[in-house]
Amino acid sequence: SIVITGATGHLGRLVIDALLADGVPPAGVAAVVRDKDRAADLAERGVELRVADYDRPETLADAFSPGDRVLLISGNAVGRRVPQHAAVISAARAAGVGHLAYTSILGGPDADFDLAAEHQATERLILDSGLPYTLLRNGWYTENYTDQLAPVLAHGTVVANAGEGRVASAARADYAAAAAAVLTGEGHLGKAYELSGDTAWSLAEYAAEVSRQSGTAVAYENVPAEAHLAVLTGAGVPEPFAATLVDVDRAIERGLLAGTNGELSRLIGRPTTPLAETVARALGTL
Ligand code: NDP
Repeated sequence: SIVITGATGHLGRLVIDALLADGVPPAGVAAVVRDKDRAADLAERGVELRVADYDRPETLADAFSPGDRVLLISGNAVGRRVPQHAAVISAARAAGVGHLAYTSILGGPDADFDLAAEHQATERLILDSGLPYTLLRNGWYTENYTDQLAPVLAHGTVVANAGEGRVASAARADYAAAAAAVLTGEGHLGKAYELSGDTAWSLAEYAAEVSRQSGTAVAYENVPAEAHLAVLTGAGVPEPFAATLVDVDRAIERGLLAGTNGELSRLIGRPTTPLAETVARALGTL
């Protein structure tokens, strides 16, 4: 089977959509989920459900079968992900899976910002496991920004400490299509793909695009890192995660998320989704 972990998350659902749209029979797709009730729609589509939790290694024992092609979608519990991913990799190895793909971070070992550390450790665990692998080093989702449109429109500002840095983001659906292509295609074993959008944009350009489409004036306000941290914690973002976001902006300012090598569009056989389209979807005008 083709097995997707994190299948009830945003990316996981899109990967399953892409697999089924590519003609993979639903019975050949298995979804690893924590909560079966939240996967009822997947079961209804004929996808097999396998219940397991990254935090409880014993539950992972039945998650994989010999020869499975597995997509490990990195967890969202920042700080706990290395032991979680280690448990998944070890279960995949014990089961004898045929291919393990992993959603890593753009830059891989060269990404010298906080959020990258757990991905780098996971990449090393995968290499050490001896499993046939593909690393999907994903760049930024455009939705990281458009999911925050409501407060942006309410305040008329995009607040960040990213300076004039550019972001070569793509839509989640683009990264999902790439994962589906790797899981169904040949020639991807032992590869590390650096995946990003075809076009890099600055936050000033993002603010201008939101203004143009919404009719509400929105400006980019570049602030010092400490001021951004205060804005985020003031809005209720927990301190450690706010600090991580500020650190991401520093990485953006240094150009670490701006690379446009075309690998994502090559894998999916079409251009990546333009920023303007994801903004329109978020505004509900598309
Ligand atoms: P989501 O938060 O929507 O999905 C995360 C998935 O991981 C969920 O399905 C969640 O399960 C699952 N998960 C978390 N903890 C466990 C656990 N202990 N056991 C089993 N499953 C678990 O994130 P996205 O789908 O949007 O993104 C996928 C991943 O990509 C993120 O988890 C994160 O690692 C990374 N990411 C990348 C970004 C980028 O811009 N490239 C931005 C943000 C995140 P459940 O559905 O039960 O909650």
